[in-house]
Parts: sequence; structure tokens; C-alpha cells
Amino acid sequence: MYGYHGRFLKVDLEAKTTEDMPLSEVDLKKYIGGATLAAALIYNYIEKDMDPLSPKSPLVFSTGPLTGSPIPMVSRYAVCGISPLTGYWGEATSGGAFPFRLKGAGYDGVFITGRAEGPVYLYLENGSAQIKDARHLWGQDIYETQKVLKSQIEATTFSTACIGQAGERQIRYASIMNDRGRAAGRCGLGALMGSKNLKAVVVSGGMKPGSSDKEKVKALAKEAVSTIRGNLISVALREYGTLFYMDMAMALGDVPAKYFSKSVFPAEKISGQALRQAYTVENYACMGCPIGCGREVKNFRKDLDRVDGPEYETVGAFGPLCMNFDLDSIVEANHLCNAHGLDTISAGVSIAYAMYLYEKGILTRDRAGMEIKWGNGNTVVRLVEMIVKQEGIGELLSRGTLEMAKELGRDPDEAAQVKGMEMPMHEGRAFHGMAVSYATGPRGACHLKGDYYNVDLGGTVPELNIFPGDRLASEGKAEPAAKYQSLKDLYDALTLCKFAPLSVTQICQILSAITGWEMSPADLLSAGDRSVNLKRAISNKLGLTREEDRLPKVCMDTLKEGGSAGKAPDMDLLLKEYYNFRGWDWETGKPSKEKLIELGLSHVADDLYP
Ligand code: SF4
Repeated sequence: MYGYHGRFLKVDLEAKTTEDMPLSEVDLKKYIGGATLAAALIYNYIEKDMDPLSPKSPLVFSTGPLTGSPIPMVSRYAVCGISPLTGYWGEATSGGAFPFRLKGAGYDGVFITGRAEGPVYLYLENGSAQIKDARHLWGQDIYETQKVLKSQIEATTFSTACIGQAGERQIRYASIMNDRGRAAGRCGLGALMGSKNLKAVVVSGGMKPGSSDKEKVKALAKEAVSTIRGNLISVALREYGTLFYMDMAMALGDVPAKYFSKSVFPAEKISGQALRQAYTVENYACMGCPIGCGREVKNFRKDLDRVDGPEYETVGAFGPLCMNFDLDSIVEANHLCNAHGLDTISAGVSIAYAMYLYEKGILTRDRAGMEIKWGNGNTVVRLVEMIVKQEGIGELLSRGTLEMAKELGRDPDEAAQVKGMEMPMHEGRAFHGMAVSYATGPRGACHLKGDYYNVDLGGTVPELNIFPGDRLASEGKAEPAAKYQSLKDLYDALTLCKFAPLSVTQICQILSAITGWEMSPADLLSAGDRSVNLKRAISNKLGLTREEDRLPKVCMDTLKEGGSAGKAPDMDLLLKEYYNFRGWDWETGKPSKEKLIELGLSHVADDLYP
């Protein structure tokens, strides 16, 4: 078997046991790896109405066949389980050195169940595993946790993924952080980790699975580096990080402002260039990446000399969505979220919703215990602190927008979320392909599983017949958006960075050279379709129906200004075309029996249609 160790580590924290979990080549070929393989492993453990935070609920860390190979932009991993935020399928990915070292530890992934009696961490090194005491780490932020572990662990090179206070408190949108400030941010999987009393996973080692054709892999890696270096977006990412897109996005009406009621704002105050002018900014790269889209802010404050810089999504959520253009407060809010392990998107959208409710007089000063006015950066920072501690009004905000709406007796259509997960900082009104991706995405509103704005801005995938079209048109958009969603879903099986500008043909060649399997673009698309349908079936099993494939009204009302003025996606048309293409049942929202069988998921078909 090439590209894999052929085993996960299976951990039962309650029984305090670790054992090998062998993987068959048939399953690896079918599910590839990463989040898709995790979904296949998790499927059999899921029970209807399973509490995501119950000891039985699995938590999986997973790498892919490309992880640890010489191919650039592949040091990524997926964390998966039932999302504590949505109650449905949950996954988040991150990059850094952790994925490379997890593979180096001799496992393709880790499958964890049970709840430890007290705080523990997992230590994996060169094919062996130990469950260790972490009482001394509980209550520490993620930077301190990594610092303490560095002083205690003998191995010279290791990486840590851990939770902060937010995960320990099981806040519904807590993240898992690795390699200082890299975040597996969405879906609240930090809360799932916290519910298991698992503070950290530490990985070390140099075990590498071989490749089927080493020389070919080397040649393809060289070609990939040259493709990446010659790509315009790669250059922009290197220069300004993901924030390079802020000015252009505002011009297109792609950035929500004032809690989705505006789209025009002074973007120059919070752009990638503004960040570089305000601070000393340095690049950070995941292992083996020639781009380095990560930012480090060096001279932030006397007591905080070096902090991880904010990404586009974070600046959008704490910035224009709250009408806050004070960069210092955005950098500080980002730092607090990172330090305590909190998803910046859900935190920012929840704060913006509180500002919206405060303006309407629904959330009063008495109830909130403070003023929550638009545009106040200090308020944004203060509310992040209160969310982490679940203190005062922070407790309500820590539940996310849907629960906030329910608690305050508001129409759920006012909560900017899909299936309970807060909307990211791209507008379905500006790109109708995004709207259908948000409504149907495997984990709720997700800008990464179907970043269709990239297609309508010129990104073609000729091998799959995906070409740019009118970004403000709904008709005919669902089919290419669904195909693109399947393709991007597969990136999280391969564990390939979504910014990698590689063609589908290059990806097929790389996968074949590593694993020895012949893979055509059509096979790749089919694997992506299988992945999307499998995750959908997990959510169906947990109670998901078609009624939840929708965008809230607050994100659909037409705007009077900006790049999407007067336009809104035709969701009925988009969803009908999408369901038709996918072969999903319009009544139940489930993949049809025939579709599941066609994708080689007969066991799922038997389960969903007893
Ligand atoms: S582009 Fe950014 S996220 Fe992707 S591999 Fe490079 S540094 Fe990591």
C-alpha cells in the first residue's frame, strides 16, 4: 500500500486503551482519506439523536494520501465528528506542520471515543501512543499550552493541536488550534474535544509511507511548485495573505456589512495593504508551501509583541459586519479567539447580531449590561472576552445566532446561519453559485466546500466542464456549483490546500504517482460526489431534512447599494436544479437509493431506506 500507513490509532479515553485500527486498500481507494475517510469510519457509530458531546460521539483527526509527500501545499489535516454547533456532520481543516508530523508519527489518523476521567493529552511518536496527564494544562490558553509542552517533551521536533478555554467550556463554536495560531475553526469541534477532557494531541516522528513512483512524484512536485509560483492569486496571497481580496470583494458586493444590510464601506481601512502599513507583518507558511499566506504581526503592542494576523474572514466578521474599521481592535479580537480557541466567523456574526438587536431595542442595555453599538472596536474586543468566559451577555452570544434568536423570541430568519452554522464573509447575493453552495454544503454555511465565486471570477475547470458565467444569474448555476462543491470536498479527502492552483489533471497524476491507482478526472469527480452524499447521509441520519437547505431572509433581502444592488438568488430554482442534478429526494432531502447504490454506498442505502 503506497501513500498510507494503512492504519488509524483507535483511542478509548474511558477505557484508557489505544490500539491499531487497520484500513483496507479497498476503502482507501473509495474514500481517499481526510474528512471523507473519517466520514466512512464515523458512519457506523452515528445513532439517531446522538448528543455530539456524549462520550460515545467520535472525534477523528485524519490525514490524506498526499500528506507527508514532497508535493507542495499538502500539510493539512481534517478534524471530524458530529458538530456541537449544528448537531449534523461536522468537519474543519487546518494546515501547518501538525499534519506532516501526524503522518510521521506512523498513523493516517486518530479515531477517539470515550471521555477521560480528568484532563489528558495524547502523545503519538513513531508508531506508539500514550494517554498522558494534562491537569497542569487545563485552563491554559493555546499558546501557553504549546509552550509548556515544549518545555516537557523530549522529542526535538513535534507539533501540537489543542483547545483553549472555549473548548474546555464546550462553547458550541470552539475551535482546535495547532502550530501556534493555525485554526481548525468551524463546526465547534473544539467543544467535542473538550467534552472528552482531551486538551491536546501531540505528534512526532519520521515514519513516511512510500510512493508508488518516487521519481514521478519528484517531477510532479517540481512542476506543481512552478505552477504555484506562476499563478497570480498565489502572488497576491503571498504579498497580502487572504486579506488581499478585501478591496475587490467590497467592489463586487461580496462582503456583508452591518449584519448583512449593507455592502459598501471604507475597505481601504482594513485591506491587506492597511495591515502592512499599520504593523510589521511577516509571512507564515504551512510546511512545504511556497506561498505562505499566513500573517504574523510583530509589533502589535508592548505586552503583545507578536500575534497571529487576521485572515480575510476574520477581518470581515469583526470589521464591516460590525461596522468596525479600527484595525487594532480586529487584530486583538482575532488574537483572543486564537488564544482561547474560538471560531472567529461564528463569534463575529454573533456579535454583529447583538449590535443589530441592540439598535432595534430588542437587546436592551439592562439585559446586555452594557452598550452594544455599531462600530465600537472596544465593544467587539470586550464581547469576545465575555463569550470566552461565558460571562454576562457573553453567555447568550456563545450559543450562536440561532439560539440567540430563539432565546429572544425572534424569527429564526433573522439569524445569519445555515443549519445553525454562521454565514461566512462571502455574499450569496453577489454570487448565486455561492448561495446554492451555502444552502446545501455538507457542514452548513461554508465558503470552502464550494467557493464558487472563484469560478465566476474566471477560474475554469475544463476537465469537469466548469466555466465562469454571470455571477448574478441563478438559472443553470446549480449543476456546475454542485460539481465544484464535489471537487472542493475532495480536496479535504486528499488534504490539499484549497488555494493550490493545480489543475484536475495534475491532481490525478499526483494521486496516481503516490498511490499507484489510475485516476481520471471523472473518477475524481465521482469520489467527490460519493463524499458529499456520504456526509449528507450522516446528517440525514441525524435528522436533517430539505427544509434546512435554505438561506435566512436576513441574507436574502435585496440591497439598495453596491455590487449586488437589486439582485437576489432564486433559491427555489437553484435548489430544484441542484436536487435534480444530485439525485436527492425533494420530499425527504435524502440522496435517492439509486444514487447511493450508483456511488458504491449500498450499505448507506440499506440504512436510509430500510
Ligand atoms: S496557501 Fe496558506 S493555507 Fe495553503 S498551504 Fe500555503 S500557507 Fe498553508
